[in-house]
This record gives sequence, structure tokens and C-alpha cells, in this order.
Amino acid sequence: MLDPDRIEALRNQPQAPASHVIGGELRPASDGAVLEVISPIDGSLLTTVPKGTREDAEAAIAAARRAFDEGGWPEMAPAARKKILLKWADLIEANALELAVLGVRDNGTEIGMALKAEPMSAVATIRYYAEAIDKIGGEIAPTAPGNLGLVHKEPAGVVGAIVPWNFPLMIGAWKLGPALAAGCTVVLKPAETASLTLLRIAELALEAGLPAGVLNVVTGEGAVVGDAIARSMEVDVLVFTGSGATGRRLLEASAQSNMKRVYLELGGKSPNIVFADAPDLDEAVKVSANGIFRNSGQVCVAGSRLLVERSLHDAFIEKLSAFTETMKVGDPLDPAVSAGAVNSLRQLEQNLAFVEEARAQGRTIVTGGTRILQETGGYYMAPTIVTDVKPDDRIAREEVFGPVLAVLPFDTEDEAVAIANGTDYGLAAAVWTGNLSRAHRMIRRIRAGVVHVNTYGGSDLTVPLGGVKQSGNGHDKSLHAFEKYLDLKTAWIKL
Ligand code: NAD
Repeated sequence: MLDPDRIEALRNQPQAPASHVIGGELRPASDGAVLEVISPIDGSLLTTVPKGTREDAEAAIAAARRAFDEGGWPEMAPAARKKILLKWADLIEANALELAVLGVRDNGTEIGMALKAEPMSAVATIRYYAEAIDKIGGEIAPTAPGNLGLVHKEPAGVVGAIVPWNFPLMIGAWKLGPALAAGCTVVLKPAETASLTLLRIAELALEAGLPAGVLNVVTGEGAVVGDAIARSMEVDVLVFTGSGATGRRLLEASAQSNMKRVYLELGGKSPNIVFADAPDLDEAVKVSANGIFRNSGQVCVAGSRLLVERSLHDAFIEKLSAFTETMKVGDPLDPAVSAGAVNSLRQLEQNLAFVEEARAQGRTIVTGGTRILQETGGYYMAPTIVTDVKPDDRIAREEVFGPVLAVLPFDTEDEAVAIANGTDYGLAAAVWTGNLSRAHRMIRRIRAGVVHVNTYGGSDLTVPLGGVKQSGNGHDKSLHAFEKYLDLKTAWIKL
């Protein structure tokens, strides 16, 4: 599917100014304002998206409310909803390369990963939930005779979904798939720097026969469009992936409005822990490097803290930096590239500031630490390994969300656990060991939503993803995701 000639042709395709998708129509912002879409590949102007107003968000919410209350989507037989959603997935698949290239031009993810992780992941997700929805039902409660206790699962209503700029289609589909299959209607707010592919798949949804107003996409600033969704009295459930700071604001907005349920998938500072008895050090080196540097570290579960048993530390870092220096960073539309562009200049500057602070504290920059390929006009950063990091350093506690690995040595299992659990986050972790008992002990002791053993980052749609502590609540993926979009209603019948 990665035909270089087609990729080159798509790279230069002009992009018309994009529109919101509201109530089945393509619309500009109510005041005509736009946001420029700057490609991180070369800093050029790709196109514009509407700079949505509060009125735009309210129009989309009203459309979703009407589609839920009067439009028949929740009442439609699950098998009928399934048919439309499967057609939508087919259309996304038919346009997968176009969508992948458009997404790469918008957010800089390397094309090989983007194709799999973006349109094709969205296709698999939408199919999974479409196929599932007519196979789950309610319950009859085991009451005493003489009564009948029924447990219905009802669509929760209008869902507000606010998503980030990394993997917009994958993360967007993790919300849209179960929400739409469950019979909810949705107002989706993409990130300012990654809106184009989500707008495009909303158009494809209309083509697939999704009724007007069932899926609305409003672009613009978080503080305007996102805030209007979060404060709406007409939104029943708010689902979010993004930063902790925004997550906190959404909880406040919910409390100050209609107390809508808020599900948060936030960041991480995930520990990747290598014991000296790791079974295959070369594999651990390669997977650990990819676990932080792919997509330039802009992955919520990235293994951004490497904890290495002291006796192995120097040898491991030597191998790791040698491997890292072989990783090709650059034009994300080149299929040979291992890491593409950083999403925005702002993010790149933030990444570099973390490294400078570590350098000023006397930490060692083993490799990387600089902006590269500046002559392209794009936003690229060399994969960066920082050693001699202390557990209290900002680089060891806060999410950089860039290609920056903080390395900390440890001496004992207890110390590894203490360092691993010593941040506010709890999204992912990994343990490399050949000792089965230690692996199981570590799985129990590390506070994280997922603990990998002798690998990093592997998963699939059947496995739930969610964090603990300040990494969030609730789960995307797997059948558990339906819990956010289906309300339990009981009926008590006297027989
Ligand atoms: P962000 O929180 O700044 O933005 C996320 C979304 O929230 C965007 O659509 C943005 O416009 C919107 N937003 C911003 N301010 C808002 C406000 N006041 N009210 C309502 N909406 C608002 O995060 P980002 O920079 O886009 O994404 C990077 C962050 O996302 C990282 O911290 C990363 O770890 C996290 N992330 C987490 C996961 C996960 O599954 N846990 C996945 C991907 C990214």
C-alpha cells in the first residue's frame, strides 16, 4: 500500500479550505474566521480550517441533540446501525492512503506508522464496535419469584469528544466507534493542529448514510469550542484524550454545568524497567528505542523513563545510543524514516527547553538534544537520551511528549518500584526480566493501566486502554469502552 509514487502525488495535492460538519452540512465558522494549518514537514501553509465560535459549537450540539431525541438513531435496530457503520469503515479503507498522507501532512507522523495506526486502525475500530453492538444485551436480575428485574442498556445521549493531535483518527475512532454503535450522537472537537482527517471521515460518514446530526465535527480553539462543549447543558457525556491541565478544566466545567460524566485519557511518564536478567538485551534495546522515539515521542504510552539496573546501565546505554543513532529522522512521507516531524514549533521548543534544563542541572546528554533539518523549514528533533537523571528532576516527572528519554539507574527491585511509581502518572510501564516471579510481582506493584513484560507498547483492540492516578479514568478499546456510552436502566415489574 506504501506506493512511493502515489505518496509523492498526494504530497503535493492542494487542499481546499476545510469546513465544519454540522447537522449533515459543511459549514464555515459563523464569523468566517479560519485557523491556518501549517505542515510540520516543511513549515508551509497547507490549508485552513474554520476557527469555530461558541455559536458553531452550540449549533453542533443542537444538531446532535435533535438527532438523538428526534432523529431515530438510538431507536434504530442495532443491526441497522451496524450496516451504516460498516459501510463507513469500507469508505475509510478505500481512502486509506489519501487519509494517511493528509494526516501526515497535517501532524508529521511517519507514513508507515500513520497508515496502520490512523485510517486502518480507525477502520478496524469502527468494524469492531459495529460488529459487537448486536451481540450485547441487557440482563434479567436474579430476583426472588414474584418480581421481574430488567436491566436495560440505553444509549447515554449526546457525547462530546475532544481529542489531541497525535493519532487523531485512531483516538477519534476509539471514541466514535463505541459511541455511535451504542446509539449516541456525537460532537467531536479535533485538536487545532490535526483536524483535517477527522473532518474528512465525517464527510465519508454522511456518504455512508449516517443520518444528519449524528456525527458533527467542529474545529477551532480548545478554549472556545472545547470549552463550549464542556460547559453545555445538552451534552450528557464528555470523553477526552489530551493533557492533564485540560482534563482538570473539563472536570471543573462539568461541575459548573450539568455534571456530565467526564472520562479522561491523559498523559504518562511511563517507566520502562530493564533488569540485568532481561532475556534478550538486543531486543530490549531496539524495542525501548522504538518505544520512545517512534512518532518523535508523541505517543501517550511512550516509555519516556528508562530505569536500568546499575550493573547493566553503562553497557545498555552504549548499545541504546548506538542503535538510536541509526534511526533515520526526517521527512515523514519517506517510508524509510523511523521518526517524522514534531507536530508544531511550539511543541519542538517545549521539548528543547526540557533538554536545556537537564543540561543546566548537569545531566548528561548522551545523544541528540538538538533541533535538526532546520533548512527544510520543518520541525525535527534528534532522538535524545539523557542520563544521570534524578527522580525529582522535571525531566523525570513531567511529560515531555517529545523524543526525549530520561535514564535513571536502580539497584534493587524495591527501588525500581519506588522510582516507577514516583510520579503523578500511571498510564503504561514495562518490565524486562527472565524471572517469571519477578515479572508477576512487578505487574502487581507498578501502578499503571498497562504493564508490558519483555516488550513495549504492544496491544490490540480487544485489550482496554486507560490510566490510573492522574493519567485518567475509564477505558478506550475493548467491549469495556461501551460502559461509557451505555447507561444502565432498570425496570421492576410485579408479576
Ligand atoms: P491538550 O490538552 O492541549 O489538547 C487536547 C484537546 O483539548 C485539543 O483538542 C484541544 O483543543 C482541547 N482543549 C485545549 N484546551 C481546552 C479547554 N480549555 N477546554 C476544552 N478543550 C480544550 O493536549 P494536546 O497538546 O493536544 O495533546 C498532547 C497530550 O495528550 C499529551 O499530554 C499526551 O500524553 C496526551 N495524550 C494522551 C493519550 C491517552 O490515551 N492517555 C493519548 C494521546 C495523547
